[in-house]
Amino acid sequence: MIKLCTMRFFSGIKHLCSGVSSYISKKGSPDWLAHNRAQWIRLCSRTSEIIKESNQDSMILKHLILKIKSTGPISVAEYMREVLTNPVTGYYQHRDVLGPQGDFITSPEISQIFGELLGVWCVSEWMAAGKPKTFQLVELGPGRGTLASDALRVFSQLHSVLKDSEISVHLVEVSPKLSEVQAQLLTEGEHHLLHDPNGAIYKTGTTKTGLPISWYKDLQDVPKEFSFYIAHEFFDVLPIHKFQKTKHGWREILIDIEPNSPGKLRFVLAPHATLASKTLIQRDDERDHIEICPEAGIIVQNLATRITEDGGAALIADYGHNGTKTDTFRGFRGHQLHDVLTAPGTADLTADVDFSYLRQMTKCKVTSLGPIPQHEFLKNMGIDVRLQVLLRNASDPATHTDLIDSYDVIMNPEKMGNRFKFFVLLPCNRLISSQDTKNMKRGPMTSPVAGFSELQL
Ligand code: SAH
Repeated sequence: MIKLCTMRFFSGIKHLCSGVSSYISKKGSPDWLAHNRAQWIRLCSRTSEIIKESNQDSMILKHLILKIKSTGPISVAEYMREVLTNPVTGYYQHRDVLGPQGDFITSPEISQIFGELLGVWCVSEWMAAGKPKTFQLVELGPGRGTLASDALRVFSQLHSVLKDSEISVHLVEVSPKLSEVQAQLLTEGEHHLLHDPNGAIYKTGTTKTGLPISWYKDLQDVPKEFSFYIAHEFFDVLPIHKFQKTKHGWREILIDIEPNSPGKLRFVLAPHATLASKTLIQRDDERDHIEICPEAGIIVQNLATRITEDGGAALIADYGHNGTKTDTFRGFRGHQLHDVLTAPGTADLTADVDFSYLRQMTKCKVTSLGPIPQHEFLKNMGIDVRLQVLLRNASDPATHTDLIDSYDVIMNPEKMGNRFKFFVLLPCNRLISSQDTKNMKRGPMTSPVAGFSELQL
């Protein structure tokens, strides 16, 4: 049944894809690609570079040491939270950490097609939902705002399809610095800070495509409306707890001060069960080491409730696994792997997303598809059609090379194509056609979910 309508549906996507404009020159020299994160993920080894700490970074270390001295070893989750998002000293708070000058690079920063196809995905799901009059685009952890900018350009170019709808944009971002970078890109100055300390919105404005846009620190403050939620490389930075199986049962891995060098940190095993090991590990596991991210679980539950009550869908894209990996906690600094306990605050900290845990935390409130590899999702979304359109419209050889190189980085299974996965949360009735419902006469067939079914042209 699904197969029958696939062709019609995807020729719709093909039409959406080919209707969207030309190459956006934003990447600078082609050499830039040599610095992409994917290549480093593959090639890098621990750096032996001597790390020079700035005052602020050593402040984080001092703060952590003081904390451990007064309350004892801290969990890896507490360490990650302090290092990444502490409002004063956190890694994300005061710097633009993405891109060639930063510590890592992401797919939307590599190729404009990535954000465009996610924009097309929202439009196709909006059509499948019966074209509701209003919808929100909600992005969690928008980085530099590049993905949103590329998706919004698609919305604007598909004006004839979306013309009667009221769209608003909502960004969930903890970093004042990155929210400023996002605002510059998305609004071109049409924004202002709000100074109500109790207000849920801390910044508001109008996008350059004319849509209202607001910034929040927390998803729970975003208005409850029909929404498309996008989280790209967001869940991997949320704090994880780490556990080791021992002959006494599961024990949490904690972070303590190195006894012989008081300015250094080390991992230790909790001698007894901790609150986290008692509450978070609910079943035995074949693995002897696991990582659990309760904050991700809470956010996914929140998304599931919102989708059930108000409609929409959530597209989560990240590197991750289906409950099979063990020790994935690592740091990135200057596009190199970086020891997670050295010079905290100077490197990004990240762990692979456990999609099986996310699925389990939705508690069957919503239906989910995936995780599927990025190259499969983008192929199904018609990336080849988009690439051909851009190549046709590109006049100079440098642009051609850039388009092809960036396509290769995000699609090649040896680079980002396989390592990154797509996972979607949908309302429970999204995949049920009325023909599947008992006692109902023949009704309309459900359309396949864009990106998760094979493209048939
Ligand atoms: N999605 C972007 C950026 C990924 S980096 C891209 O793909 O290019 C992670 C982003 O999440 C940054 O914008 C960071 O500031 C933000 N972030 C980290 N922890 C967060 C939290 N707890 N709540 C909201 N945003 C967070």
